Amino acid sequence: MQQNIYLLGAPGAGKGTQAELLAKKLGIPQLSTGEMLRSARLEGSELGKRVAAIMDAGKLVSDDVVIALVEQRLCRPDHQNGVILDGFPRTIPQAEALDALFARAGRSALKVIAIDVPADEIRRRLSGRRWCTTCKKTYHITDNPPPDGPSCEGIGTCRLEVRSDDKPEAVEKRLQTYEEQTSPLLAYYRGKGAFYSVNGTGKISDIFSAVMSCLSA
Ligand SMILES: [Zn+2]
Repeated sequence: MQQNIYLLGAPGAGKGTQAELLAKKLGIPQLSTGEMLRSARLEGSELGKRVAAIMDAGKLVSDDVVIALVEQRLCRPDHQNGVILDGFPRTIPQAEALDALFARAGRSALKVIAIDVPADEIRRRLSGRRWCTTCKKTYHITDNPPPDGPSCEGIGTCRLEVRSDDKPEAVEKRLQTYEEQTSPLLAYYRGKGAFYSVNGTGKISDIFSAVMSCLSA
């Protein structure tokens, strides 16, 4: 049976982590917008060249382009058992365009799992996030602290920075954008049926069990 899954949640809700675990467990690919854009550039196809030109001009890639990228992926043989969408759709118009694409491609309906995390917990997670400029790993000051002593790439101590995205003002902006543009998708998908919601606080493995039980529901 084809399983098309979309994890919906605020930034920092843990969608990426759960998507990765799901992809591994179910053996189906994860479609992330960032990764699709990067590989389109590298492939150098017509669409890839368009993407490169838009990104180099510092502009946002339009919904049409992202939909075209998703459409290309859905044609691949290893995408026929299903896909896990990560970071797309983020707005109602994008969700509508995706529905139309799924209908054209004859895909089974999307199962949507909302990962529910209170805004204060999101703030705590994002503001405590640190990134090591040497080994490129992401840590959290309390939840996932970097190892002590000479550990970073085996040569020394991690050089930790706060990403510009995780600075307090940027976090508030991201939460506001989510509230205004993405959270209306909760009602949109709830109205369509295959919609589930899990508590996104607690242990990663417990959240994953909850996500898995939605799929067998
Ligand atoms: Zn490091």
